[in-house]
Amino acid sequence: MTDQKEQRLQGLGVSTGIAIGPASVQEAHIPKVEKYTIDPTACDDTRQHLMRAVTATRKTLLALKKKSTLLYPSLLNSGIGREITLLLDAHLHMLDDGSRLMRLMEHHITGKLMNASWATFEAIEHIASQFQAMKDPYLSARAEDVRELGMRLLRHIDATSTATSPASTHETPMPQQYPHGHILLAQDFTPADTVLLDPLHVLAIATESGGRESHTAIMARALGIPAVLGVYQLTTSIGNGDQIVLDGDNGLIITRPNAHTIKHYHSKRSQEKQQREHLATLKKRPACTTDQQHIHLLANIELPRECAHVDAHGAEGIGLVRSEFLYMNRDDLPDEEEQYHFYKDIVCSIGDRPVTIRTLDVGGEKLATSMGDMLSDKGENPALGLRAIRFALKHPHIFRVQLAAILRAFAQRAHHNSTGEKAQPYTGQCRILLPMISCAQEIIQARAIIDEVAQDLTRRHIPLPRPMPSIGIMIETPSAAVAADTLAPLCDFFSIGTNDLTMYTLAIDRGNEEVAHLYTPLHPAVLRLIHQSAQAAHKHQLSLVVCGEIAGDPFYAGLLIGLGVKELSMNPTAVPRVKQRILHTDSRQAKQLADKALKALNDTEIIQLLEKFHHPDRP
Ligand code: PEP
Ligand code: MG
Repeated sequence: MTDQKEQRLQGLGVSTGIAIGPASVQEAHIPKVEKYTIDPTACDDTRQHLMRAVTATRKTLLALKKKSTLLYPSLLNSGIGREITLLLDAHLHMLDDGSRLMRLMEHHITGKLMNASWATFEAIEHIASQFQAMKDPYLSARAEDVRELGMRLLRHIDATSTATSPASTHETPMPQQYPHGHILLAQDFTPADTVLLDPLHVLAIATESGGRESHTAIMARALGIPAVLGVYQLTTSIGNGDQIVLDGDNGLIITRPNAHTIKHYHSKRSQEKQQREHLATLKKRPACTTDQQHIHLLANIELPRECAHVDAHGAEGIGLVRSEFLYMNRDDLPDEEEQYHFYKDIVCSIGDRPVTIRTLDVGGEKLATSMGDMLSDKGENPALGLRAIRFALKHPHIFRVQLAAILRAFAQRAHHNSTGEKAQPYTGQCRILLPMISCAQEIIQARAIIDEVAQDLTRRHIPLPRPMPSIGIMIETPSAAVAADTLAPLCDFFSIGTNDLTMYTLAIDRGNEEVAHLYTPLHPAVLRLIHQSAQAAHKHQLSLVVCGEIAGDPFYAGLLIGLGVKELSMNPTAVPRVKQRILHTDSRQAKQLADKALKALNDTEIIQLLEKFHHPDRP
C-alpha cells in the first residue's frame, strides 16, 4: 500500500456498513441467445427442448431452496428466511404450467416459429420491460427478478441443446465456493445469488449493475451485508486479492487505501456496529417523541409476500397497499375470488393491526394491460387524464369487483381473529383509501358504490366486516389539499401522497429526468398544502397519514411531526431509522421548525432550517 495510489470508485450505497479486506472478482457467465426461425415441423422438438430447460431450472431452484434452508436454519422463521423462500417460490411459480411466461414462450415457438432461446429471451424481455416501465421503484425493480429467471433458463437451454440431460456446470457457484473473508465483486449479482451469501463469511458485495430498489439491494440489506451497486468499471479496475475498502453508507470503493484511510474506516466501522446494535433494540419500542407523542410507523407494500418485512422491521401495520399491482402484467382482469385471496393473505398475516388498502390507482404512466382499451395513455398529459378514482368511477363494474373482494377480506380478518385457535378481540382498523381525489363528488359517488356493494354482499349472504372499514382519501392533488376542509366531513381519514402532491403542485413530472432537479417536496407550496390538510384533519378529528417517499426519510420526520402528522407510512426497511430520529425529536421544537419552514422563501432555506434542527450545535 502506498499513499499516492489510493483510488475511489463511486457507486450506489444500497446496504450500509464498512468492509475492509481482499477483493474476489467473480467471473460472469452470460448465456448466448441464438436467434433463428425454425421449420414448422420442428415445433415439437423445440418445445421439448424448452421443457427440458424448464425442468432443469425447476430442479436448480428447488436445490437452492434446500441449500438456503441448510445455510440459514436459525433464520428460517425470520423475515430473511421467509424472504429467501418467497423469492425462490416466485421463480418456481413463473415456471408453472399455464403461467404467463410459459404461455408466451409457447406462443413464440408455435406462433412465431422462434427457436427455444430466442422465444425465452423475447418472453422474458416482454414481461421484464413491462415491470421496468412502472414508475413505482419497487415494482420497476422486479424486472431484475424476471431477467434473473430468464438467465437461468437460457443457461439450461444452452446446456441442454446437445445433451438430453441438463448439465449443471453453468450454474452460479454455491455459497461455500465463494472465498471466505473477501469482498465479492461482480458485474452482476442476482437476488438468488445474494440470498445464498453467508453473512458470516462474506465481508461485502459490489457490482457494476443494479439499482437502489433492486431485489439484490433489498436482500443485501435484509442479510446485513454491506453493498455498493452500479460501480462503473469495477471488475476491470480491481484484481483478485487487492486490498480494498467498501463504504456502503456513501457508495464508495477505495482501492489501495492508505494507512490514514484504513484507520478512519476502522473507527467508523466500530461506531456503526454500535449503531446497528442500538437500532435492533428499538424494534418493539413505540416511536414516541421526547415529549411522549406517539407517532405511528406503518408500511407501504405492493404484494402479500412483503408482509414479512413489515414484522421484521417493527412497523405497526400497513398504511398503504398499492393494489394496482394485481392488475398489471396480465391479459385478464383478476376476478373477485382471486382478489379476495390476495387481500386476505395480507389482512390475515397482519393480525389485528391496521391495514389500509388503496383502491386501484391505474392510469397516467401506471398502465395495466388487463384493462385493454379501457385504459390508454391517450392525450398529451396522461397524468392529468383517466387515472385512479376517475377510472374506477368510469368503469364501476371493475371497481365493484375490487370493493367486494376487499370487504370480504376485511370480514375474514374479523372472523379469523374471533374464531381462530387463539381468539383475541378484534381491535384492528380496516381502511379503504381512494386515490387521486380532486373533488367532493368523487368521494360521494365512491361511498355510494361501497354501500351498494355491501348491500349486494348481504344479499349473497356473505358477512360484512364489523365494524365497516373507514373510508379515506389520498391528498395528492392540490385541489384536494386546498379544499381539504370541505372534503373532511365526507371522509374518515386523510393520507397525503407527497410524491404526486409534489408533482401536481409544482407541475413537474416525477419521472422526467430533465426536470428532476426542480422536483422537491420541500418547496414551500408543498409544505403549505401539507399543513393546510393537517389543519383540516385536526379540525374534523380525522387521522392523518403521510405515505409518500418523504415519510421514510429520517431527515423529514421532525418537519412532518411539526406540521401535525401523527402517522408515517414507508418502505418497511426505513422504519428503524425513522423511529430512532423520532425518539430524539421534541414535538414542540418540531412545531417551531415547521412554523419557520412555512414562512421560508425556498427549499434551500428549508434545508438549512432542517440542518440546524438536527445539528443545533454546528456553526
Ligand atoms: C404518492 O403519490 O405519494 C403515493 C404514495 O402514491 P404513489 O407513489 O403510488 O403514486
Ligand atoms: Mg400517488
